[in-house]
Amino acid sequence: MIYLDHAATTKPDQDVLEAMLPYLKENYGNSQSQYSLGRQAAIAVTNARDYVSSVLGCTSEEVYFTSGGTESDNWALRGIYESTKGHIVLSAIEHPALLSLADDLKKEGADITYVYPGFSGRINPKDVEAAIKDNTCFVGVMSANNETGVIQPTDEIARICKERGIFFFSDCVQSAAVLPFEKGLSGLSFSAHKFYGPKGVGVLYIKKGTPISRLIAGGRQERGLRGGTTNVAGIVGLHKALEIALSHMDENNKKVVSLRDAFLDRVLCEIEGTFLNGDRNLRLPANANISFDGCLGEQILVLLDMKGIAVSTGSACAAGAVTPSHVLTAMGLDEGRCSSAVRFTFGKDNTPEEVDETVECLKQIVTSLKK
Ligand code: PLP
Repeated sequence: MIYLDHAATTKPDQDVLEAMLPYLKENYGNSQSQYSLGRQAAIAVTNARDYVSSVLGCTSEEVYFTSGGTESDNWALRGIYESTKGHIVLSAIEHPALLSLADDLKKEGADITYVYPGFSGRINPKDVEAAIKDNTCFVGVMSANNETGVIQPTDEIARICKERGIFFFSDCVQSAAVLPFEKGLSGLSFSAHKFYGPKGVGVLYIKKGTPISRLIAGGRQERGLRGGTTNVAGIVGLHKALEIALSHMDENNKKVVSLRDAFLDRVLCEIEGTFLNGDRNLRLPANANISFDGCLGEQILVLLDMKGIAVSTGSACAAGAVTPSHVLTAMGLDEGRCSSAVRFTFGKDNTPEEVDETVECLKQIVTSLKK
C-alpha cells in the first residue's frame, strides 16, 4: 500500500511501541497508587510532562495530558468561555474540534466572530485585530491548516493579543514536531498520532493564571481538572514519539519536502486542469492539496484506493450528500475547485518510487474520469 494520508494519522514508530509496551505489561500500575508499581507509572508521567514543558518553554504545571487534539481544543475553548463568558474570535478554517463546539456555544448564547482567510489560505492578523472587542476572552487561530497545510501568522497574532492581554490559543496538531513550537502563545494543543506516536493521547498547554473550568469531574488527575485513570502507556508513547520526531525534524522535513515537490511538479505539469490549493511556499512540508478540474475528489479517492493508494478529501459525506470543504469554501474557491480537491500528505517513509507510481495512477484515473 502507498500511504499518502499522514495528516490523518501516522504509523507509530517501532521505538515508540517498544517504549510503551512495558507500561502495558509489567509496569501496568495506576499512576495514582501509593506503592512502587504505581510510583513507577507516576514517574514516567512526570518525566513526560517535564519533557513536554521543556520543549514548550513553560512549567510542567501548565501541561495537561488529554485524549488528543479534539479534547484539548474543546477543553480550552469551553473551559475559558465558561469561566469568562466573553466574546470569542475564531478563524473560519479551524478544525471541527473548535468549530463544532463553537456552534454549540453559539446556541448557548456565545458571541462569536469568525475571521476568513484570503485566497492563499492565510489569515490576515489585521482581520483578527479588527475582530477583537473589549470583552474578547479567546482568540483561536491554528498553527497550520489540516486540509491545505497553510501556515498561519501566529507570531503576529500572538503579539496583537499579548498587547491587549487577550488569551490566544493555537491548535498545533498539524505543525507539532514539524515546525518549532511558537513561544508567545497562551494556549496550544497537539496530538501524538500525528507524529508517529499512539492514538488517543495529546497535550493541552494553558498559561498559568488563565481562568479555565474543569473538564471532567472525578479524581485528582491532571490537577483535579480532568478526572479519570491516567493513560500511562499513551503518555510514554507521546514522550518517545516527540523526542524522536524533534531530533529528526530537519532531516524528515527535507525528505518530505523533496517528495512532495517532486509530486507537485509532475502533477501540475503532466495533468491538465490541476491547481494547487493554498500558498505554495507557506505550507507544511508534507501537504499537496490539489484540485482536478472536471473530476470529483471522492471519485479520485475511491479509484486510488482500488490501486492501493490512500489519500483524503476535505469534504464530508453526510446522509449521502457531499458537503464541500469548509476550508476551501472559506478561502473563496469556487464549487468545482472545492469538490475536485484531493489532499496528499507525505511522510518520512514514503519513497520517490511511490511518488512516480501515484502520478502514473492519477494520470490514468483523470483521463478515464474526463471521458
Ligand atoms: N486539530 C487539527 C488541526 C487536526 O488536524 C486534528 C486531527 O486531524 C485534530 C485537531 C483532532 O485531533 P485528534 O485526532 O487527536 O482528536
